[in-house]
Amino acid sequence: MTKNKVLLHTCCAVCFSYPFNKLSLEGYEVIPYFYNPNIYPIAEQQRRLDELIKVAPDTIFEKSSLDDFYKISKGLENEPERGKRCLKCFKLRLQKTAQKAVELGISNIATTLTVSPHKISSDIFMAGEEAALEYGLTFLKYDFKKENGFKITQQIAREKNLYRQQYCGCEYSIRKL
Ligand code: SF4
Repeated sequence: MTKNKVLLHTCCAVCFSYPFNKLSLEGYEVIPYFYNPNIYPIAEQQRRLDELIKVAPDTIFEKSSLDDFYKISKGLENEPERGKRCLKCFKLRLQKTAQKAVELGISNIATTLTVSPHKISSDIFMAGEEAALEYGLTFLKYDFKKENGFKITQQIAREKNLYRQQYCGCEYSIRKL
């Protein structure tokens, strides 16, 4: 397996820039990977992918079905954001990332998810480490929101005029305005 590559699970273009820059500066060859079956509706999933491809044309992406997310979130529809449903959502996405890394011969995985102050980094680390362990990989445990990561990634998104969504992703996270 190639040692210095990392498959970076990426949720959207806004969250991508800071983690990508940080990992690149630390010497990794970063391969962006989009697998987010949680994002509702499908048109929104496509919109976030299209926006990501604008800043990262080499993104690898999966065709994914909302059903994958509904299977793991069944019974957890009324959980609050940052609750049990989110942990399952992280596990789903990072398990698939680990599977893909093995397929591509990449030994490291990471995720942009920790850049968000709305998400619990320890839950993301748990999901990432579990997936990495199962597949014999290393999960790069970066808490990207640290050192102003969230502020910087938002600033880059504004400069590049990227689409900035108003909700996390699943239909349960859509804020009623
Ligand atoms: S709120 Fe976000 S992290 Fe939580 S389940 Fe929904 S899409 Fe996943």
